[in-house]
Amino acid sequence: MSKYILSIDQGTTSTRSIVFNNKFEIVSFDQIELKQYFPKDGCVEHDPKEIFETVLKTSKNAIKKSNIRPTDISAIGITNQRETTVLWDKETGEPVYKAIVWQDRRTVNYCKELQKKGYTKKIQKITGLVIDSYFSATKIKWIIDNIESSKKLLKENRLLFGTIDTWILWKLTEGRSHYTEATNASRTMLYDITKNSWSKSLLKIFNIPASILPMVKDSVDEFGYTTIFGSKIKIGGIAGDQQAATIGQACFEPGSIKSTYGTGCFMIMNIGKNIKISKNNLLTTIAYRIKGKTTYALEGSIFIAGAAIQWLRDSLKVISSAEETEDLYKSNDKSQQIYFVPAFVGLGAPYWDGEARGAIFGMTRNTGVSELVKSAIDSVAYQTKDLIISMEKDSGIKINKIKVDGGMVKNEQFLQFLSNILLSECDRPKITETTSLGAAYLAGLSSGMLGSTKEISKKWQSQKLFKPKLHKKEVKYLYQGWLKAVNKIIVKKNRK
Ligand code: ADP
Repeated sequence: MSKYILSIDQGTTSTRSIVFNNKFEIVSFDQIELKQYFPKDGCVEHDPKEIFETVLKTSKNAIKKSNIRPTDISAIGITNQRETTVLWDKETGEPVYKAIVWQDRRTVNYCKELQKKGYTKKIQKITGLVIDSYFSATKIKWIIDNIESSKKLLKENRLLFGTIDTWILWKLTEGRSHYTEATNASRTMLYDITKNSWSKSLLKIFNIPASILPMVKDSVDEFGYTTIFGSKIKIGGIAGDQQAATIGQACFEPGSIKSTYGTGCFMIMNIGKNIKISKNNLLTTIAYRIKGKTTYALEGSIFIAGAAIQWLRDSLKVISSAEETEDLYKSNDKSQQIYFVPAFVGLGAPYWDGEARGAIFGMTRNTGVSELVKSAIDSVAYQTKDLIISMEKDSGIKINKIKVDGGMVKNEQFLQFLSNILLSECDRPKITETTSLGAAYLAGLSSGMLGSTKEISKKWQSQKLFKPKLHKKEVKYLYQGWLKAVNKIIVKKNRK
């Protein structure tokens, strides 16, 4: 039996491919940065062909570095940046336009129109999402409305749509598979998460023809075969990046949470088999669908987490590397209470205020780089507390522990403060490559290398557990200061 899994992680800033062995240890790794296109203010695009080239190159390199033969690979898992939209010609495989990336804001005004027309409740009830240009639906509509060739192809029944998983799969299978899977579908704003099917009424609202949509499969499924790597290999698992990390972190029990701290922060809570539409400005989404059974999740996203550290490094130039922040944090003047609200691109959940902008409060003549660094790092913890409060209200579950991953969790000062402010334990796993690992697990379930999600839970290992060290009263005082600071910059009162 083949003993390896190839996991492809097509992210926003880079594509990574990892070969895992049958113990789900990393054997080899390859990564290529992805070019970002900013054609206009607020517009972000990728080149779909380049995306696939990076998938091919990193996969081939990872296989080469692992010294295994392609026949040793039992299945491929794919995880991807979510919501990003590609439309292409099924005859030639040519994209009709660049991939419109999730961050792209070109359809903001159309989203406002939809809100004015009173669609907010209806769309939330069907998709679990808030109306936002973030999701694929308005991006698809924009391409169809603005790119002439797409109209012609549509008439000839040659136009196909896909999120990045679908595009990669279609290319890997040389046009044989036009499928997506449930977690990716749940981010399009066209998928009915209650019925597990594309929503006819939403397709009508957006004027998107059903003929361009891929068929939606489970997260573990038969997605087809690729022969591109020199042998016939099954593609057996797919999930959007945050959901893959949820699986990589073995969050299979209702109430279990993973929080990923990279450029931004994405927190996902497993809520089990029953849908709960958020009353506290979170998203309801599909965590995974295995053997036809859907597990749901609540999701909260913070736009600026590690990016606040990047700002100190690249714009203010007061630090030269993210690693320095740990020592600077330790040397801060404890008598100063500085609040940094990093709303550089507005505020995400639970505020959803696109017009708010960043501010730093409480500075004195004694404020220096250490204090700025501390306030930037602390802001990520306070924003996490905002999300946790919404999650506790929506789910009725008291949160005592979260599993953490992403680039920022190398910083132990951050994790200790996070634990203090949340009054909850923060658990850092041994393998922090949770996104790739999650896709590998899905492929492993498909190939029979893993029997069930229970086996995945057994594999999860803690590397270090951080426990709260502050008194409740002190946390309350500190957090009230944060809320006051946020309220000073809010433009659009949205929070319930
Ligand atoms: P992404 O996947 O979004 O590109 P990563 O998970 O690679 O991000 O994490 C990178 C982020 O983590 C950067 O924003 C960086 O500023 C931050 N970061 C990396 N190391 C540290 C550290 N030691 N302390 C604080 N932040 C860090």
